[in-house]
Amino acid sequence: MKKEFVVIGLGRFGGSIVRELVEQGMEVMAIDKFEDKIDEFANIATHAVMADSTDESVLRSLGIRNFDHVIVAIGDDIQASILTTLMLKEIGVKKITVKAQNDYHEKVLRRIGADKVVHPERDMGKRIAHNIVSNNVLDYLELSDEHSIVEIVANDLLIGNTIIGLDIRAQYGINIVAIKRKDDIIVSPQATDEIQADDILIVIGADTDINRFEKKVMQSS
Ligand code: ATP
Repeated sequence: MKKEFVVIGLGRFGGSIVRELVEQGMEVMAIDKFEDKIDEFANIATHAVMADSTDESVLRSLGIRNFDHVIVAIGDDIQASILTTLMLKEIGVKKITVKAQNDYHEKVLRRIGADKVVHPERDMGKRIAHNIVSNNVLDYLELSDEHSIVEIVANDLLIGNTIIGLDIRAQYGINIVAIKRKDDIIVSPQATDEIQADDILIVIGADTDINRFEKKVMQSS
């Protein structure tokens, strides 16, 4: 069965979520308080509705409770974002994801019961910073405050060595969980697997340990 979503706030972030969900065949109700946004999304979303999401009676009349997942993508107006989230909780929406503007906003959203809080500018900033500092780091995904997964391009220090030979787990306390090799992905590589040129290592571990490893890989690049 198709899942049904509501996206509130059709800025760049909310708008791109609407487009992607529709692309994936989902039903999407797109809401914004400005008419030009509704005109823009009228032919993209399943329904595009002009409404102020801080008005509880409007939310109820739209039958928001029956949707599987509501995404609150209001950015600058933190008060409207918090109020909307609070009312969605009160109405009994099953799953709420909210975009946070800063750490305080995130804290409040978590406290009032948002199921998921996303912080796209901050997260993308971190990912790009890792890539800028080290060309070998292709991508970076934060798992928790202290743990991440990174994609690192193998360099001369690594190429031609086996995983056991490099002793990465003992030396750095991190694990290679997969290797991307051309179009293949080797999940749970063997200790005896040899790292080849152009391999991309997917590494998991504590940030401090990953940073030590990144620096080591960088030094020999
Ligand atoms: P982005 O960076 O994603 O472009 P942003 O973080 O700058 O967006 P805003 O432009 O502040 O976010 O808000 C996104 C959208 O949310 C805007 O189109 C705005 O009209 C809409 N919006 C703001 N408040 C409400 C509200 N109370 N009800 C409905 N829509 C709202």
